Amino acid sequence: MKVLVINTGSSSIKFQCFDMDTEKVLLKGLVERIGEEVGKTKYSYGDKEFTVNDKVPNHKVGLEFIAKLLVDPKDGIIKDKSEITAVGHRTVHGGEKFHSSSLITHDVLDAIKEMVPIAPLHNPANITGIEVAQEIFPNAHHIAVFDTAFHQTMPDYAYRYAIPKDYYTRLHVRRYGFHGTSHLYVAKEVAKFLSIPFDKFNAITIHAGNGSSMAAIKGGMSIDTTMGMTPLEGLIMGTRSGDIDPAIPHYIVGRDKSNIDMVNVILNKQSGLKGICGSNDMREIQERYFEKNDPDAKLALEMYSYRIKKYIGAYCAALGFVDAIIFTAGVGENSSVIRQMSCAGLENLGIIFDNAQNERRTSSILEISKKESKIKVMVAPTNEELEIARQSVEVLRSGL
Ligand code: ADP
Repeated sequence: MKVLVINTGSSSIKFQCFDMDTEKVLLKGLVERIGEEVGKTKYSYGDKEFTVNDKVPNHKVGLEFIAKLLVDPKDGIIKDKSEITAVGHRTVHGGEKFHSSSLITHDVLDAIKEMVPIAPLHNPANITGIEVAQEIFPNAHHIAVFDTAFHQTMPDYAYRYAIPKDYYTRLHVRRYGFHGTSHLYVAKEVAKFLSIPFDKFNAITIHAGNGSSMAAIKGGMSIDTTMGMTPLEGLIMGTRSGDIDPAIPHYIVGRDKSNIDMVNVILNKQSGLKGICGSNDMREIQERYFEKNDPDAKLALEMYSYRIKKYIGAYCAALGFVDAIIFTAGVGENSSVIRQMSCAGLENLGIIFDNAQNERRTSSILEISKKESKIKVMVAPTNEELEIARQSVEVLRSGL
């Protein structure tokens, strides 16, 4: 079965086509700069890579181009686009309505549209992607896989904010959490690796990329996560502040005669690592620290890892028993420094870190704690696209 996975942003479409009998990626790529004068599209069939800079005026043209790549007479992977059985759509916000992936019907699409006020930056692009893909792949089943769905098992005392109840009932203000597909994927992979049944598996997952979040997983279900109503809460990220005193925006607006929209942009785009040291690239920050002893870079590394460490402690308490702590995504998979700093000094919690193992480089699952560690510390590569494809297949099978 061929499944196309699409992740539509406001000016980009990330795509991967899988043969789900083997889970092999047949074609993948990224269409960027949609709507700009010059476009940028990169794609590859296996190790054959291509780049084109043709203008891509809108998402429809972008997706038509992807459809053409699929049936390309020379490199194409199918003869006719009707061979795509399912299109899995990464959909950011499923609100309280979606606890799992869903076949996209009229009602489901309407519900995703209703979610726009709580996800104004993400859901509109996802909706465009769905509508255009339905036009271009009319024979395929379209499935929405939500970033928020995995976290819908959180108890109310974890997802509610201590503000007047009316904001929850009327405006749907609560913790939703994001990166659900990634947290679920790495947790399932590590449970399999450790031979622990997933419904008995307790883990703390750390998705540390440009956007970052952690989840507390009990018996295979999310019981808490660091991102909140929006992706701004929780960990320090590339450009997002994560947790701050909620009174700070009010103070800045008053002092700077600024406005709340501006402060929102600053907290989302100019803060986090970038706000602390001017860069949101962890590689560059590490280099500045190790080669020049740059104090801002040092502080950025310390603040970033200290926030992770605090949440490890919090989630150990929330879970009671923890099988594994799992690092994933760009920073989590590649930065041995951040992993080491985040786990240092946690022996009393049962975490005995192995510095030598931590320096090993591999693209598969790696254990970086010592044998005697009660809690295993693991590195696991994430693969959100594969998880979306797997869930799309599951939705189809459960509907047959
Ligand atoms: P996104 O959230 O955009 O998917 P990624 O998961 O790709 O982000 O993570 C991007 C982050 O990972 C960047 O801060 C980048 O510097 C960091 N990163 C990537 N490779 C390395 C590496 N080898 N060492 C340290 N950090 C890395």
